[in-house]
Amino acid sequence: MASSKKRGKTAPKTGLIKLCLEKRMPLTKKRKLIISIIEKSSSHMDFEGIYREAKKRDPSIGIATVYRTLKLMREFQVVTHHSFGQEHKHFESPIKSHHDHLVCNECGNIIEFLDPCLEKLKLEIASRNGFRMQSHKLEIFGICKTCFKKI
Ligand SMILES: [Zn+2]
Ligand SMILES: [Zn+2]
Ligand SMILES: [Zn+2]
Repeated sequence: MASSKKRGKTAPKTGLIKLCLEKRMPLTKKRKLIISIIEKSSSHMDFEGIYREAKKRDPSIGIATVYRTLKLMREFQVVTHHSFGQEHKHFESPIKSHHDHLVCNECGNIIEFLDPCLEKLKLEIASRNGFRMQSHKLEIFGICKTCFKKI
């Protein structure tokens, strides 16, 4: 490996807020708090998780504020959401670089991965069909290592 200075993982702390400002999403102190929770989370938080975390940091935050902020973020396209085969949504910062997901059907654990061959293959499939790919999502469902051992 060449000496490329820790690329990728150094997203600036204000990244997502900056994106919201660029997209002209109206921000309040509470909205900023919710945005930073989503940005800093390494997992894929669902609504409940975000609400719990927000409440912990600012007890005056109500469930409606969290709901409205997430709705607004979706409208302004400043959040990525996945359903992972469940009824509720999981939220993730759109600034995070592209990756795909492995989802455990037993414990709900989510593993992120990026495979250059797969990425290339998807582009090839698209172009073979005269299709210009703009985005894609891949979710692989199954049983994780830990859960597999328990069976
Ligand atoms: Zn991919
Ligand atoms: Zn599992
Ligand atoms: Zn992810």
